[in-house]
Amino acid sequence: MGSSILKTRPLLILVLLVLCFPFPLSGATITDIRFWSAPDHTRVVLDLSGPIQYESTSRENPPETRIELTGITSLPKKGDIEVKDNYLLKINLIDLGKGKARLTLHQKTPLQSNIFTLKPDLGKTHRLVIDLIDVGQEKKDQEERERQREVRPKGTKIVVIDPGHGGEDPGAVGPRKTMEKDIVLKIAQKTVHLLNRHKEMKAFLTRKGDYFIPLEGRVRIAREYGADLFVSLHADGSFNPQARGSSVYCLSLSGASDQAAKLLADKENMSNILGGAFLRPASLSKDPQLNQILLDLMQNNSMKESFRFAESILEEIKEVHPLKFQTYRQANFIVLRAPDIPSVLVEAAFLTNKEDERLLNQSGFQDKIALSIVNAVLKFFK
Ligand SMILES: [Zn+2]
Repeated sequence: MGSSILKTRPLLILVLLVLCFPFPLSGATITDIRFWSAPDHTRVVLDLSGPIQYESTSRENPPETRIELTGITSLPKKGDIEVKDNYLLKINLIDLGKGKARLTLHQKTPLQSNIFTLKPDLGKTHRLVIDLIDVGQEKKDQEERERQREVRPKGTKIVVIDPGHGGEDPGAVGPRKTMEKDIVLKIAQKTVHLLNRHKEMKAFLTRKGDYFIPLEGRVRIAREYGADLFVSLHADGSFNPQARGSSVYCLSLSGASDQAAKLLADKENMSNILGGAFLRPASLSKDPQLNQILLDLMQNNSMKESFRFAESILEEIKEVHPLKFQTYRQANFIVLRAPDIPSVLVEAAFLTNKEDERLLNQSGFQDKIALSIVNAVLKFFK
């Protein structure tokens, strides 16, 4: 009987063999090694043509993290990659033969590692992500944000500006390859600088460089600062190259105001997937002292305030750039979900439109957008 299966069903046998094998018979190629430096961690990403297996060990002296990779057919000939950021000295990848390779991350100090794989998604390949985290620094940054909340002089308003995307997640990309993550960081820095010239204001950024923060993490940062106002900054993207203009969005808990707003929220919420979010338990914890009724009341009030703020941003922005929509739109944006902070999301212009992309790259236009947000903030608190 067995032999007759072999004769008549060779294809079935082959399929069974492939299924039993934990990774494709051909193995995976490592196509690239990339890294991003954040204030409290460094992220290293291996781009892979298929799934692999890995095992990690870390040492304290000298401080390093080693990852033994199995199921590798070829690797890039890069030699040592110099990093020299806060935490890493260099990255070394060597071929051990027989489908094995070793990745060594030479560190400045011992660090906590979080290693995980990401499946292909939204145009990205298989990836192995290694986050090396300075838990001490992470705690210090959090304490410093909470200290800012404590030491603020009476009457000072705290505004947190959130440049969208970063690191693995470029956001929208223009015809001239301008990336949303870079443009919104520039506009956000300008906005914070202008706001801090007013002594009754204190403004902070959620992200200070090219690295990724999960959406929930951005909300948490704003809450640690005790923000009175939160602005998430973005630049829009569309399949239609004619689409252009600025728009402003608020949270909706009951469904989107229209289909376009829903699609945009879905796209912005994708950031967690694209950016390779690995949520550690701390970033999910809610304030246990807040009960649901209180939370609902707060959320209601914050949303009303958000609408008022959104209207005043629209008033200001239309003086410097045509509006895509004359009124604010609503959808379920994760980054706008702080129950106690009025929050809006601004799409400064369309990166996928040639003319808007040209403007977004101009320092003068970035200044104008920043200034219109500042004027709206000042009006909001009057
Ligand atoms: Zn965006």
